[in-house]
Amino acid sequence: KPRVLSGMQPSGDSLHLGNYLGALVNWVKTQDDHDAFFFIPDMHAITVTQDPAELRARTRKTAAQFIAGGIDLEKSTLFVQSQVPEHAQLAWVLNCITGFGEASRMTQFKDKSSKGGADAASVGLFTYPILMAADILLYQPQGVPVGDDQRQHVELARDLAKRFNHRFGETFTVPEAFIPKEGARIYDLQNPTSKMSKSAESPAGLINVLDEPKLIAKRIKSAVTDAGSVVAYDKAEKPGVSNLLDILAAVTGKHVPQLVEEFEGKMYGHLKVAVADAVVERLAPIRTRTLELLDDPAELDRLLLAGAAKAREVASKTVSDVYQKVGFLPPL
Ligand code: ATP
Ligand code: MG
Repeated sequence: KPRVLSGMQPSGDSLHLGNYLGALVNWVKTQDDHDAFFFIPDMHAITVTQDPAELRARTRKTAAQFIAGGIDLEKSTLFVQSQVPEHAQLAWVLNCITGFGEASRMTQFKDKSSKGGADAASVGLFTYPILMAADILLYQPQGVPVGDDQRQHVELARDLAKRFNHRFGETFTVPEAFIPKEGARIYDLQNPTSKMSKSAESPAGLINVLDEPKLIAKRIKSAVTDAGSVVAYDKAEKPGVSNLLDILAAVTGKHVPQLVEEFEGKMYGHLKVAVADAVVERLAPIRTRTLELLDDPAELDRLLLAGAAKAREVASKTVSDVYQKVGFLPPL
């Protein structure tokens, strides 16, 4: 089975519907025909200031939602980055073969550090793409899924793999970047031309996996719709209605044209009720299971340590090989 690796930051208190339908649902599909590694990049998270207790809580919450949302620990390896020390170990070596100018060209650092003075951004944020290269190369995957914003970082990982192989002998698989199958793109319910995002100005357009069913239904019923009254799919003229149709399609597995047909002659209100019911039905069991998992943090921590142990079986081989090749003495 081809190996794939994906991560999602523990940055919010809950995944939102976009994270769930756009990313997690695809991960769950991936695990049947791939040797899948999923991780929570808490070491990347601290490249910007975090509240320690909150980071720990969010890491557990994110992991619990992954499991509740369908990541099967028998099929996949789910782990927390900081519990696999090989990420930091390999990152150091890769730091030492990356040019300062090369790292300086990474545009995400420029974007993220542009506000504030020279000391507002950490060196960790600067070397973030190198840690990301380590995340990838440790597991020797043939492919890495890339979104637009990560393209340049994956390119760096490929360059570093080739450079290391050239200098020290064949060590890393040079991963091919591939564009993942489109997950659903979900837009803000109050502002349906902007992507649903936890950084939205107001939570009113956001649906969180951990929201109470009542709140979810309320938010969907207050979604902004468009002029007119015909349920039709038209992203330019009817972004609100189209977003609701996309959500309903993603949640029910039906196709949009079929849904449009089903709602012929019906009003926007009918569509909202159908979307609210379907989303609640889909998310309620995930919420319940997440809360159960969080109710027993010792058990959750045990599951995550078991995932870390599985990840280390692969990662430690890579690091031993690398350490030997760069000239370090044999380890403990
Ligand atoms: P931020 O606002 O901080 O960027 P976010 O809400 O966009 O946060 P990310 O952590 O950037 O969430 O994304 C996590 C995953 O969820 C990524 O795979 C991303 O593509 C996916 N994702 C995020 N928002 C949406 C959305 N509205 N629709 C579909 N997928 C989404
Ligand atoms: Mg984002």
